[in-house]
Amino acid sequence: NKANIPVAVCTAKRPSVASGVRRHVAVIGAGAAGLVAARELRREGHSVVVLEREKEVGGTWVYTPEVESDPLGLDPKRRIVQSSMYESLRTNLPREMMGFRDYPFRRKEGKGRDSRRFPGHREVLMYLQDFSADFGIGDLVRFQTEVVFAGLAEDGKWRVTSQSPLSRPLHELYDALVVCNGHYVQPRLPHIPGIDAWPGRQIHSHNYRTSKPFQDQVVVIIGGSSSAVDISRDVARVAKEVHIADRSVEEDKLGKVIGHENLWLHSKINSIHGDGTMVFDDGSAVRANFIIHCTGYNYGFPFLETNGEVIVDDNRVGPLYKHVFPPKLAPWLSFVGLPWKRVLPFPMFELQSKWIAGVLSNRIALPSKEDMAKDVEAFYSLLEASNIPKRYTHNLGPFLWDYLKWIADQCGCPSIEEWRKQMYIATTKNKVLRPESFRDEWEDDDLVLEAEQDFVHYLI
Ligand code: FAD
Repeated sequence: NKANIPVAVCTAKRPSVASGVRRHVAVIGAGAAGLVAARELRREGHSVVVLEREKEVGGTWVYTPEVESDPLGLDPKRRIVQSSMYESLRTNLPREMMGFRDYPFRRKEGKGRDSRRFPGHREVLMYLQDFSADFGIGDLVRFQTEVVFAGLAEDGKWRVTSQSPLSRPLHELYDALVVCNGHYVQPRLPHIPGIDAWPGRQIHSHNYRTSKPFQDQVVVIIGGSSSAVDISRDVARVAKEVHIADRSVEEDKLGKVIGHENLWLHSKINSIHGDGTMVFDDGSAVRANFIIHCTGYNYGFPFLETNGEVIVDDNRVGPLYKHVFPPKLAPWLSFVGLPWKRVLPFPMFELQSKWIAGVLSNRIALPSKEDMAKDVEAFYSLLEASNIPKRYTHNLGPFLWDYLKWIADQCGCPSIEEWRKQMYIATTKNKVLRPESFRDEWEDDDLVLEAEQDFVHYLI
């Protein structure tokens, strides 16, 4: 519906297509990050090809009942299933705050639509499909096309080899590469003493779809993230017992979870034994027959060859200037969407993409390679001095707002809306206050109203 095509929010400093330098850019992936990257690059006047392994847009939001052959995701030869969605998943952010800034994630009427404020995963996929259709992004995407190699060619261009099911590998040259391949695919499994001798079954949350396999089981869920909270409740509906092992749990929360008959919170697992017993740091123990690891993911770029200029070291992708550009290869290589945990993914992808697009057309200047490298070093030193482990490099945490403002400033865009910030704070508080019902009960209707008023600017 063309009448609903939003007006671009950030056009003030945008040059006409002809005045910028036009590059030939490959975007790898057509999830939320790749879609908005493609839109921003094209808006800036670049020629864009999006290479997508799957048959449709949406990335991790394309739910599938299919799981991987190795439920722990360790076998490097397994066929990758991109989606980490489980059937019951509802967003953990309210839709107003979650959507792209200039393409509001508003309630829509129609078959299959989910008008809840924290909708199910299908509604997010439909939103991304709408985004793709309204901006004509689908025309830029080559589906069922997997990038199997991307490396520097001699003339400074990127050589990209892609593979489609019924054709020979295709070799192409691009001026620039924007990597949007997602980072919820490669499970992260911290070592637990004794786990190798454990006789029960185990899966990673990447391969959790429904509670069915857990009927009448005693299940231990490792982790404290949103997935651990959601999956524990889902499983508790059918399992005999569910025990969550959360290394950051507060002491006064240990024990039976209020409002549940068969759900317990424990501290970190101390040891696992051959008879199925698990001992927790708080001294409690259970005998279980299933483990679900909700322990997060590792970054991976199996197709990318940078001659060592970008490496993944203890889950730090680096060196990267502001989590986006490797100083030595900037601006010809960039990454969208690396920061995780306590971020606003879609608005952040949008801002990062605007920055990349503007830098590639020479509208926005980057510091010199030396200055970018110094900035990265200073950032790493700050993390070290603050005792933040390397693996949390891309965990923005308290730096989120400054980071988003900094990028918006580079692009000449308005900074993140105040209502969005306040909504983030209100939602975080509400989750603590109402861990079981924050998706259906809240107290920030005034902010919803403010968001709705703001959204009017983006609709013709
Ligand atoms: P993806 O969606 O993973 O897309 C990457 C794309 O790249 C895929 O389409 C994939 O097929 C393609 N690809 C990968 N490798 C190749 C290759 N070699 N060649 C070609 N194509 C390739 N965010 C929120 O804002 N709100 C939420 O409530 C929320 N809940 C979440 C719940 C779960 C369980 C998970 C896992 C994540 C959640 N997120 C949430 C974060 C979510 O990941 C981001 O919102 C976002 O969708 C990620 O988009 P992406 O494009 O970076 O990655």
